[in-house]
This record gives sequence, C-alpha cells and structure tokens, in this order.
Amino acid sequence: MVNVLHVRALEDNYVWLIRVDAARAAVVDPGEAAPVLAALAHLRLTPAAILCTHHHGDHTGGVAELAARYSVPVYGPARERIPALTHPLKEGDRVALPGLALDVLDIPGHTAGHIAYHGGGLLFCGDTLFSAGCGRLFEGAAEQLHAALMRLAALPEATAVYCGHEYTLANLRFAAAVEPDNAQVRDYLEKAAALRARNLPTLPSSIGLERRVNPFLRAGVPAVRRAAEDHTGGRLNSEAAVFAALRRWKDEFRG
Ligand code: ZN
Ligand code: FE
Repeated sequence: MVNVLHVRALEDNYVWLIRVDAARAAVVDPGEAAPVLAALAHLRLTPAAILCTHHHGDHTGGVAELAARYSVPVYGPARERIPALTHPLKEGDRVALPGLALDVLDIPGHTAGHIAYHGGGLLFCGDTLFSAGCGRLFEGAAEQLHAALMRLAALPEATAVYCGHEYTLANLRFAAAVEPDNAQVRDYLEKAAALRARNLPTLPSSIGLERRVNPFLRAGVPAVRRAAEDHTGGRLNSEAAVFAALRRWKDEFRG
C-alpha cells in the first residue's frame, strides 16, 4: 500500500513523500529540508530514500541536510550535479523501494539530464510536465522537450502525475487562450480554481487528463496548430515546430 503525500516548499514547490510502509517514505525533490523534516516528524516517518529529478536548487536544496541526518540512498540523474548523490541514474535503470519499483526515464529539455521516475501507476516528472503546462527550456532544444513530453503522454491514461510545482491555474489560463473551445480546459479551470481557493493542491493530475487539456501534449491537434500559427503568423510544418511556437508564446504570455 503505497500512498503519496505532499509537502509544500519554497514559493510553489511540492516535495512528494512516497509512503512505502508504516514507518518510511521516499522523499522526491526536497528543495528545502525544514518543511520535509517537520512533515516527517508529524507523520512519524523516516526517509527510505531521496529521489531527485534534476539539479535545480528548488528541487535539491534540502538534499545535503536530509542526507546528513539520515543515512539513506540519494538517487538522481547521472548527468547532473546532485548533492550527496549515491546512486546516479539513467534511462532504463530501476529504483527498488520497498513494495514499489520505479523505472527511470531520460526526459531532457528543461535541464540536459532531467529524469522521471515511473512505476506502480505513479509518475514523478519534476519540471518537465506540469499540469496543463510544461517546464521552460533552460538547457535543451524544443525538439528534445517535445519528444520527452510525448514519451510521458504515451504512459497509461490512469498514471497519476506528480509535478514539481503548483502552476496549474496559470497554465490553464494559457491553455484556454490556445484552445478557447476546449470544454475540458474550462471545466478543469473551474475545478482547479475551487481547489486553489481552499489552498488545496491541484495535483496529482493524470496522463489521461493531460492529454485532453495540456496544449504542450496537443501540438498534433488541428485547433492547437491553427492557434500557434495565428500567434506566430506563419505556417508550422511539424508538431515539434508547433510545440516550439507554443513554448515561446507561453514564455511571454500574461494571462
Ligand atoms: Zn527546474
Ligand atoms: Fe523547479
């Protein structure tokens, strides 16, 4: 019986606690230590492992302190510098937690070595896939990030999506600008706004929902392509080109 709990960190980060048994949880992307330590104490849990998706400080800032306090394996991308890393990971590797095996996917674009953890119907995707959005291109090309997102979109519909940030509402405002006629975007916007009004997380999302509302997974949809072409004022000849145009559009979008 694995369940996943959230810890808020920094401005709008989520640290995920994957509870693997009555006493232990794996800690995903601890951007700071203090709120994680407080949550673990409150829940009477100790860490089973620390899992990082990429090197950015808002996902790794608490690793050193947690690793110093608890002697647990620290997993993270082999191609990036992660504090206290003990288990460098790449595509095809597997993290064996008690009762849960997570496969490692290489999903570069936001950062060059970004990885995701997938298994048991769960996906931890850091800053690559957000609900109704995707990460910014800091160290990769648009084609790379698009390919990474298409891999995630191909996972089973029911897969629960645990992203690194609470960006859903702002993302949905952009999604509604791209697809004003997508009723499921409007629907989700209403639900997400109600959750945020009560200060509740909009996550986890699901792969099925993301396929229906996330413009960055929908570059092949004619209405999305037309919106991107209207915005850029030229023809876009591939899904990757549509994706790149959407990413640029979102970078300057003020909802
Ligand atoms: Zn990041
Ligand atoms: Fe981040």
